[in-house]
Amino acid sequence: VTKPASSAPNEQLLLPSWLATVPQAPENPTDLAGLRSDWGVLVRDGKIAALGPAAQLKAQYPQVKTLDLSGHLLTPGLINLHTHAAMSLLRGIGDDLPLQRWLTERIWPLETKLMSPEFVYDGALLAAHEMLMGGTTMFNDMYFFPESTARAVQALGMRAALGIVTIDFPSPYGTGPADYLRKGLQCRDTYKDDPLLSFTLAGHAPYTVSDDSFREIAGLAAELGLPIQCHLHETAAEITQSLAQYGKRPLQRLVDLGVIGPDFIAVHAVHLLPEEITLLAQLGASVAHCPHSNLKLGSGIAPTAALLKAGVRVGVGTDGSASNNRLDLLAELRTASLLAKGASGDAQAWSAAQALRAVTIDAAGALGMEAVVGSIEVGKSADLVAFALDSSYLQPVYDPISQLIYAAGRECANYVWIAGSPVVIKRQLNSLTAIRALGEVTAHLPMWHNSVGEIVKAG
Ligand SMILES: [Zn+2]
Repeated sequence: VTKPASSAPNEQLLLPSWLATVPQAPENPTDLAGLRSDWGVLVRDGKIAALGPAAQLKAQYPQVKTLDLSGHLLTPGLINLHTHAAMSLLRGIGDDLPLQRWLTERIWPLETKLMSPEFVYDGALLAAHEMLMGGTTMFNDMYFFPESTARAVQALGMRAALGIVTIDFPSPYGTGPADYLRKGLQCRDTYKDDPLLSFTLAGHAPYTVSDDSFREIAGLAAELGLPIQCHLHETAAEITQSLAQYGKRPLQRLVDLGVIGPDFIAVHAVHLLPEEITLLAQLGASVAHCPHSNLKLGSGIAPTAALLKAGVRVGVGTDGSASNNRLDLLAELRTASLLAKGASGDAQAWSAAQALRAVTIDAAGALGMEAVVGSIEVGKSADLVAFALDSSYLQPVYDPISQLIYAAGRECANYVWIAGSPVVIKRQLNSLTAIRALGEVTAHLPMWHNSVGEIVKAG
């Protein structure tokens, strides 16, 4: 007579066909993804409590409920290192324009007229849902009204780093740098007890932030122990303008202002001289590479193979929906890998395993969160994705990491857990709160569609 299996609801044994642990310190360079076959993961109280050969774990924890994930690759939750989530409401409204015209003719006028806490909540919720359904468990955001993004993230049970935004011109969110910083810090204070939310100081760009504001950002980052993110060297025009206005390139200006260090995330970093790559490596800064946004805006191709070679930590971001237009990290990784190979002439640049590291442990490291998320290691938060690799178009599977990066699509993200909570099960949202929130936002979409249409028509 066998006793019926009983299990505390807060523990579960996940049994995938393959496990990519993506360890913080890989034991050897040919196994950067830490790939294991027929290993299991014990999730308890939101954390990874044990991992090892499935047979061994089943013998060791016979009372724990199991989830059979055969045909699945289990990875750490994917981390999108650069987003403007709320811009999903502006997807497709400013296509086929270069960055400066895109910003000044389309995005900034629309934002001036539309931006509100409601706009940001609705847009961020749609974006967060899109990301979640593709296996993204955390995103690093930069946008106005971060408290609205926080509420959207909470409704879906996701994890996010929210930017405390600084920009030198007024908007419906604030009057100028001092007001933005005050409001952002207030938001951080409001959400300080939410373990799924963290904050960064987000200076918009060298061409929209003054020296004084950058000094203030650097001071606050040191005082509060927060990462800094900033768009940097995105276009050639940004560099020409900086040379004219400040007599130096933007990176050097930020170095001189004390902004760049191990807590700094350079978003884009497309146009870099060889000595600037060395400088970023020496200062320990990270890069958020956004290949689709750079390609779509005609900004250029970031020298990611050289950055990696120099030892710079490179994560990957989608940027906002208005310049991508898809918040799909797997698609972004495939492009990142192919571009790195094509642009450097080195087919060994950006292996599939390296690509997976970019959106897991390396992104976590860029955000100073490598002790919490980014790999499947005992003691870390159970932020996990099970990708189904058993469809006919992905068969046979010789190398599951290669299959994930070069062949699979985001629709393969079949299960998603965040801090142990199953937020997506078989491609469906699992929480009623999340389902209701998505329904409410969807009901507002005709209204946003009309508002945007009228503003564009009025020119
Ligand atoms: Zn951006």
